Amino acid sequence: MNVYQCALNAETQTILCFVFAAIGIDCVLIFIAVTVRYAKAKAYFRDCKTGFVEDNKALIERCNQYGNSLYSKYQEFRAVVVQLGLEGECSCSSAAVSNVASDPIKFLIKHSKVQENDECLSLLVRCAKYTKAINVFYGQINEIRRRLESGFPRWVVNGCRLDTMTQEVVQTYAYTRILMYPRFVFSYVSPAGRNRRTETIVMNEAVFEGIWSALSSNMSKSAHIRKARSAMTPDLREAIKKRDNYTCKLCGNSVYVEPNLLLEVDHIIPVSKGGRTEASNLQTLCWRCNRTKGNKEMT
Ligand SMILES: [Zn+2]
Repeated sequence: MNVYQCALNAETQTILCFVFAAIGIDCVLIFIAVTVRYAKAKAYFRDCKTGFVEDNKALIERCNQYGNSLYSKYQEFRAVVVQLGLEGECSCSSAAVSNVASDPIKFLIKHSKVQENDECLSLLVRCAKYTKAINVFYGQINEIRRRLESGFPRWVVNGCRLDTMTQEVVQTYAYTRILMYPRFVFSYVSPAGRNRRTETIVMNEAVFEGIWSALSSNMSKSAHIRKARSAMTPDLREAIKKRDNYTCKLCGNSVYVEPNLLLEVDHIIPVSKGGRTEASNLQTLCWRCNRTKGNKEMT
């Protein structure tokens, strides 16, 4: 019994040896084939590279210039983004995380350090310009990749890899790993720490512009409101009441009927909706009508 078992084992070992040897030989053959193919692809690309660079000179040069210029201003850009508090992670409520996507601009303004002033606006313009330039740079890189991919045979692109090929024709290609859009992450962690939800905003040109226009429209709105309020002088108020004969324009009640009636001067188009403080936009209302008018912007 023992002898028979030994014989079987020896036979199995021999078969296994053959199988392994066969696999080993295959591996070596595949390795050689891949190496030869890779070397051939590399040689092909090396020979044709100069021609490609020559044919696409303008685009490649522009791409290099863009990359270098962006790279030289990168630290400055990051510093501005940090100053505005528009990068990194902020912890907020679960509800905020779910609502960020629907109105990212509103939440970014609330959770960053941006303010309604001219300095902040000009910094936002700089960020928008910089991120727009990043976008152009990436567009140029992609165009070069596309041209490489369509200009060389498939086996060359497969053997050399598109990334390596691009890197060899565009000097600034390495900057693509550095020049990236900042990210702002809204995160919520439950009290026990078991739940964690995040929403990431990529700070690209559109986002910086969105913040800029929201802030500047708020600023012009508050400037308008300040102006409208200061224009409403006691003299103007009295002049409007006199013009309207001390009579409410809505209910017709007047000081002649009710001597102690409190009359107020109302903006027909509310200041909050852009209405101005000028005679044509003003009317006399009694206090009751003014309270029920809805928008009690000015009196
Ligand atoms: Zn009235």
